[in-house]
Amino acid sequence: MLRHSGWLICTALLLSACARDESISDVPTSDSYDPARDYFSFANTDQFVTDHLALDLAVDFESRRLSGTARLDLRRLDPGATEVILDTRDLSITSVLAFSSENSPLPAAYRFGDADTIMGTPLVIQLPEGMASAAAVSLEIAYTTSPQSTALQWLPPELTAGGNHPMVFSQSQAIHARSWVPLQDTPAVRITYEATITTAANLLAVMSANNDPLAPRDGSYFFRMPQAIPSYLLAIAVGNIYFAPLGAQTGVYAEPELLDASVYEFADTQDMLEQAEQQFGPYEWGRYDLLVLPPSFPYGGMENPRLSFITPSLLAGDRSLVAVIAHELAHSWSGNLVTNATWRDGWLNEGVTSYLESRLMEVIYDKDRADEERVISYEELLLDFENVPLPMQALAPRLDDGDPDDFQGTIHYHKGQLFLQYLENAFGRDTFDEFLFDYFKHFAFRTITTEHFLDYLDANLLSAASATVSREQVEQWIYEPGLPDDAPVPTSATLDAAARLAGGWAIGEVPVGSVPVADWSPQALIHFINNVPPDLGNDRLGELDAAFGLSDTSNAEIARTWFIQVAQRRYTPAYPQLEAYLARHGRGRLITPVYTALARNGVDLARAQDIFEKARGNYHPQVANSLASIVYPDYE
Ligand SMILES: [Zn+2]
Repeated sequence: MLRHSGWLICTALLLSACARDESISDVPTSDSYDPARDYFSFANTDQFVTDHLALDLAVDFESRRLSGTARLDLRRLDPGATEVILDTRDLSITSVLAFSSENSPLPAAYRFGDADTIMGTPLVIQLPEGMASAAAVSLEIAYTTSPQSTALQWLPPELTAGGNHPMVFSQSQAIHARSWVPLQDTPAVRITYEATITTAANLLAVMSANNDPLAPRDGSYFFRMPQAIPSYLLAIAVGNIYFAPLGAQTGVYAEPELLDASVYEFADTQDMLEQAEQQFGPYEWGRYDLLVLPPSFPYGGMENPRLSFITPSLLAGDRSLVAVIAHELAHSWSGNLVTNATWRDGWLNEGVTSYLESRLMEVIYDKDRADEERVISYEELLLDFENVPLPMQALAPRLDDGDPDDFQGTIHYHKGQLFLQYLENAFGRDTFDEFLFDYFKHFAFRTITTEHFLDYLDANLLSAASATVSREQVEQWIYEPGLPDDAPVPTSATLDAAARLAGGWAIGEVPVGSVPVADWSPQALIHFINNVPPDLGNDRLGELDAAFGLSDTSNAEIARTWFIQVAQRRYTPAYPQLEAYLARHGRGRLITPVYTALARNGVDLARAQDIFEKARGNYHPQVANSLASIVYPDYE
């Protein structure tokens, strides 16, 4: 996933984990905490594990519900177990049938356990007598989702690009799959799946499965996902969606109004895939397609296998924001192929992916551009260290409480990336590339803990006679807050020059007309804006705005940087454009820091509330909830 909404996350942290007084070094062993356990699932996966899921769901836009059946094929691990416990959230269950190879379907008794605000509600299913010792059992659960499902966003036609058809899409990571499917919702369990989806005949359904670009549009769609995936990668979208090819193995789905722009913006996807295969090993998933969603998609992208879900805010018209595509594609190896066993091991997904993304950026653009992004990641990391409490600054912190969506800002992304950069520097690129290639092959289609990674690293790199890095040094990255003293510090000549020019312009030494903005990447302009000294008057900001067209830029990242400054400095001439920006975008990374700056500039809290109330209907529930906690200081 690409999120980078650090400020929002830190607000959440201040309310929960900050107050805790925990040991900050090695994984604690003095109590019953087990770092390999997933504390965010009720499922009794030590007794039964799911191998396969079969969904048969009807999509009802009117009532904003999915309804139908989920069949789970379970393998018994514990001969004495008689109950299956599944994760759910806000699901209505109407019946449960149990059957095995020897038994025809029998009704199974079931009950809900106690609800938890973060984890949802356990569904406890009693196996009928006679099935209590079967080696494999199947459960068919008839159910309906709630309109408040935290995974599903139901968009009325007016919130889509075309404006004539409704749309629904899912976001299952981290623990939201349970709000549209009753299942063992933990990354520790991998399942294959199949699905029959029924909807209006003029709409197309797509899933994180074998989408057929030539499927007839008839409202009835069948999917198979033959590769085993963790539940957070279950994904569905239904809407007025069409397909256009990008390359032999790649293509893009979008509403017709966005299709041409998407084809242009993401034209390099096939090339990117081929480059990634050369560096990281074979792409194991068949096709790689993109689905460009409406603006309310809460993240930059979500790496749903075979079909990355993508924010339309990447459609800058100049292919300048495709780092997000590199990131989602890289997840085909780190995350989707080799998966974090629990959310505490999230850096294995996000940190490794951020490193691979930076390597792909070198190939797609050049080293200068990759270095610019490395510096920007590093600066975000330093900001996270100011806001995230020390225990959560470890790459693999203790995590048995709180919300797995919000516990360490973006530290697992940026610190993880820097850790892999450190290893590359220490062992040399060729040796480290070979290690990564073998690592993906060795752990393919498995879920692993941080300690599995450490042991593998130890055996294959650290134990070499020539190794200059010890296990102790590596463990400092993994288990300690902050950064080790010998951590690399990324540098970028172009960003340094941009910062110098910002300083020169501010004191009147550099005329605005001689800033070479036409030659710059968006990252260089962003760095320039961020380095404008804080005490400049509105007339000087107006000069910048007029020269660079900042308030009217179509580049969402440049706009984000500019409107944060506009709100922090109260540059009121740009407030109408700031308000339009907040109404237009729904991606958390783009709007959260702008709302935060507005709410905290000492004057505009009521204005932030007013803008939020007008725009909140456009936002995904996960984003709207977080924003509410920013603009309403007493919000719970
Ligand atoms: Zn990611």
